[in-house]
Amino acid sequence: MALGSDVLSELRSLVGNENVLTLPEDLIPYSFDGTAALRQMPGCVVFTTTTAQVSEILKYANRTKTPVVTRGSGTGLSGGSLPSTDCIVLCTVKMDRILELDRANLTMLVEPGVTTVNIADAAAAVGLFYPPDPGSMKISTIGGNVAENSGGLRGLKYGVTRNYVMGLEVVLPDGEVMWTGNKCVKDVAGYSLKDLFIGSEGTLGIVTRILLRLAPKPQAKKTMVATFAQMDRAADAVSAIIASQIIPCTLEFLDRTTIHCVEDYAKIGLPLDCEALLLMETDGPVAVVTEEAAKMERLCRENGSLEVRVAKDDTEAVNLASARRSAFAALARVAPTTILEDATVPRSELARMIRFIEATAKKHQLRIGTFGHMGDGNLHPTFLTDERNEDEMRRVHAAFEEIFDEAIRLGGTITGEHGVGLAKKGFLPKFAGDAQMRLMRDLRRVLDRNAVLNPGKMFD
Ligand SMILES: Cc1cc2nc3c(=O)[nH]c(=O)nc-3n(C[C@H](O)[C@H](O)[C@H](O)COP(=O)(O)OP(=O)(O)OC[C@H]3O[C@@H](n4cnc5c(N)ncnc54)[C@H](O)[C@@H]3O)c2cc1C
Repeated sequence: MALGSDVLSELRSLVGNENVLTLPEDLIPYSFDGTAALRQMPGCVVFTTTTAQVSEILKYANRTKTPVVTRGSGTGLSGGSLPSTDCIVLCTVKMDRILELDRANLTMLVEPGVTTVNIADAAAAVGLFYPPDPGSMKISTIGGNVAENSGGLRGLKYGVTRNYVMGLEVVLPDGEVMWTGNKCVKDVAGYSLKDLFIGSEGTLGIVTRILLRLAPKPQAKKTMVATFAQMDRAADAVSAIIASQIIPCTLEFLDRTTIHCVEDYAKIGLPLDCEALLLMETDGPVAVVTEEAAKMERLCRENGSLEVRVAKDDTEAVNLASARRSAFAALARVAPTTILEDATVPRSELARMIRFIEATAKKHQLRIGTFGHMGDGNLHPTFLTDERNEDEMRRVHAAFEEIFDEAIRLGGTITGEHGVGLAKKGFLPKFAGDAQMRLMRDLRRVLDRNAVLNPGKMFD
């Protein structure tokens, strides 16, 4: 059943004609997100500009049982904002105002469509710091970051989006507007409902305002790159750094395939005769940074590093960091379809997991480049494939299954930051178990009786 003219005219009356897209050529860009091989045309796309509009749309959707899929910038990597058949895509990118920057309380109040980079820049402009830095931060919205509880390159030291959310305005599936959280550093009154909405992937409510915690800006930063002949040696170096009680703000790795693709793409001058590259950054007071950087360099050398390059200035630091920041784009050039995964294991199991991924690639005759957050065990095995090749896609899915099974067996998880959405839905019951699945289903039923919000995502 396509969306009827009555639905469209109601939506037009709520948000204005110019904020409703219905033509097929206008809908195509909203029929997919950053996830490979998933496509579905929506019934229409609606741009909201106020909380009241979001509320009215959800009230109407509830009355008519019309599905609503919330969308930020559509950079999600688990199919979270993929439309369901004949749904309303509610896009928040026009709700992009920074409403308040409170320097006394170190908070920022924003609308959900503000891009992550704009939040970081606005904080930096007054000498403050918003640490979460997903690789997509130039385009991803803060609403999407909250809904996915996104991480980033600085996650090891500074944590993920959840650690910076102090309050949320949420429109519940029946249209009621609720505020949860506040500017208090301490608050234990009742259940922490804001935490329920963080990472809920648009299934429990639509986030319309976010109160963010900011941090003081670190005084100094040092960036370095170390290369290793074996991944195990890189993992040993990471263990030694952590064991010496240094928590770098960035501790990322690239495998051989990724290093070669990045060098080919970005011409950074990376050494190519190695199996693993670590990108490391330490930040904080000048004296601490100097001491930690020297210690990290020494520990890398002691653990068999082939070469350690320490950035001499900001330009070189940005250049070295771009080796990691451009990894996905560099891999994406190599094959028609790039499937970026995010299996995550305890840090101690990282080298074992990387070896397993390599063996799985060999077994299924697939090309996989792996990079990721070495410091927090979050791996991004990236399949370089072609979705038109049915036989190869069957092998890709078999490899996925084996990789996630192994991650679970090693005490890890099926997703460290990209979410479940559609792509990981099949793996969630195996990971979560019966009791958690039952509780999650019950919670969703209580909040969204008519199954209006993001139906079919995370679980049925
Ligand atoms: C090149 C690249 C690099 C990436 N790097 C990282 C990374 O380092 N770390 C990381 O964690 N992720 C990363 N991602 C994944 C993605 O960017 C994040 O998940 C991001 O938070 C999604 O933001 P978005 O605005 O694009 O959301 P969308 O993709 O539009 O939506 C994502 C989910 O959030 C829901 N949603 C969006 N807005 C709201 C709202 N206001 N209220 C309720 N639900 C909402 C949607 O329904 C959907 O389920 C990367 C993606 C790409 C393409």
